[in-house]
Amino acid sequence: MSDDGLPPLREVIEAHQLGAKKALGQNFLFDLNLTRRIARAAGPFENRTVVEIGPGPGGLTRALLAEGAKKVIAVERDRRALPALAEIAAHYPGRLQVIEGDALEIDWRALLDGPAQIVANLPYNIATPLLIGWLTDGPWPPWFSSLTLMFQKEVAQRIAAKPDEEAYGRLSVISQWRCEAKKLFDVNRSAFTPPPKVTSSIVQLVPRAVCEPTCEVGKLERVTAAGFGQRRKMLRQSLKSVFAEPEAVLAKLGLDPTARAETLRAADFARLALEL
Ligand code: SAM
Repeated sequence: MSDDGLPPLREVIEAHQLGAKKALGQNFLFDLNLTRRIARAAGPFENRTVVEIGPGPGGLTRALLAEGAKKVIAVERDRRALPALAEIAAHYPGRLQVIEGDALEIDWRALLDGPAQIVANLPYNIATPLLIGWLTDGPWPPWFSSLTLMFQKEVAQRIAAKPDEEAYGRLSVISQWRCEAKKLFDVNRSAFTPPPKVTSSIVQLVPRAVCEPTCEVGKLERVTAAGFGQRRKMLRQSLKSVFAEPEAVLAKLGLDPTARAETLRAADFARLALEL
């Protein structure tokens, strides 16, 4: 038995024949010390519900419950994992709700009665679309109070990159306009079964109460797509696809028309979006 009174994860995998499927982005964490570390970074949980995407055999789920999450709602697409998750639910009565389904399709607001904390070792094939959906769909403030998520390191760097850094781009702008975003720590490939091709990182995003300045998300996406679509070009050139006279707009906002998109802060892009 492990410290939490449940069987070691390797035994769980064997008992339930949970061989990893690549198509579902399955790279499992078996080290309960590591999953406890992720859960502690996401906490404290206080009275908030924790939403977990892709619990799989339940390594992170168990850590969240052991670290004091009052209630975990876990959405898993692979029905093979459901019996293993039912054992965890029985071990923590009334604290784990498992939903079989696609995390991209869930109506979270209908499911929750208050802001939730999202914690997940995300399936890499849908990690970025999930994040962008959470940041762009629906009203703001959103239905979550924090996001503590595992991404491929390169994606984590893009989320948290600052202007003038190589990784800075559209994902950095939307993430940082909406949230305070920081990379917490790296997780070596060898921590996963099977090991993915690259290093992973845990990122934490905390939504801003108000995104300054407030603009339409669709317009923000249009200006960042224009700016970073031609990232080596000066703004007066790259923004031609969205403004008839980009130079006049940039001058009005006190922005250098000869600068490149990678030098603008998220708030500068939002100011440009307001001019559309
Ligand atoms: N949380 C487990 C862990 O840390 O060991 C598993 C993480 S694994 C990287 C990703 C999990 O997401 C898998 O269990 C996979 O079946 C699940 N998954 C993949 N696509 C999904 C989707 N669209 N909706 C919900 N879960 C999904």
